[in-house]
Amino acid sequence: MGRLSPGSHNWLAGIFFASLSLAGLFEPARAAISVSNENPKQGQTVEVSLPRKEQIDSAVSAADLPTLQFNERSYQLFPAKESNGVQSCQWRVLLSIPADLPPGTYVFSTGDGKKQINVVDGNFPLQKIRLPKGKDTFEASPGEEEAVDRAKELLSPERLWRKHFDLPSAARISAGFGIKRVVNGKLLPDYTHSGVDFAAQLGSPVRTCAPGVVVLIGRNWKLHGNLIAIDHGQGVVSFYIHLSKILVKKGDEVKSGQMIGQVGHSGRANGPHLHFSLYVNQVATNPCDWFKQLF
Ligand SMILES: [Zn+2]
Repeated sequence: MGRLSPGSHNWLAGIFFASLSLAGLFEPARAAISVSNENPKQGQTVEVSLPRKEQIDSAVSAADLPTLQFNERSYQLFPAKESNGVQSCQWRVLLSIPADLPPGTYVFSTGDGKKQINVVDGNFPLQKIRLPKGKDTFEASPGEEEAVDRAKELLSPERLWRKHFDLPSAARISAGFGIKRVVNGKLLPDYTHSGVDFAAQLGSPVRTCAPGVVVLIGRNWKLHGNLIAIDHGQGVVSFYIHLSKILVKKGDEVKSGQMIGQVGHSGRANGPHLHFSLYVNQVATNPCDWFKQLF
């Protein structure tokens, strides 16, 4: 609520705002923004929430939803739900701190509130890899990058997960999120690893990390090879890359842990492995946190 200090000389203003409030016209100023982590590392997901006064029905149009500004972008908030599916009295958005956002102070702002956060260095290591001739380029197939970008931009209103995400492969992680790469002796400028690599054997199962809908299938693409993308709702989309086999089709509804494909080395890969990426509102996030905690 808007506060007036006791003994304030602004008693006229007090009466003015009190009467507006009684008339139901006065929205409380400085709605409190809460964040799950005020000191997030580069690549970490942050939950931002705002108090909400009334229940709303799910048919509310996107134009009526509040937005949050951060890092020169606007993010749409959704009505939050409890784990039993009942609406709670909050608006909520998940966003990822970009892996390449310089550490320092940033501000989340809404129409009438602000919250400062401090982005911490992710300390991503350097990895040296060798790629055979012909696979050491970043040239994409026609339409490949556009299709992947469109999948990242999805913003379905319904959140389809209710627990932490499952691992997409049982294999060990051979390359973590955010690492910088030296390929065939050359540091790749402006490159950070956008996901996690699982050192899985050729043909081993690839499973969904959470319930969702298959929104993109890519075949024999130069960079991603064979790819599956799954929309989990509210801007969260997972990608399964370099597959040898795809077992689902576009539009399929999938459960968490469902086998959707097999590990391969299609596209720009130096050997069989699963590259798994998780995008939150179009920004790659470190999926390892999602395997441990519920967002
Ligand atoms: Zn990878």
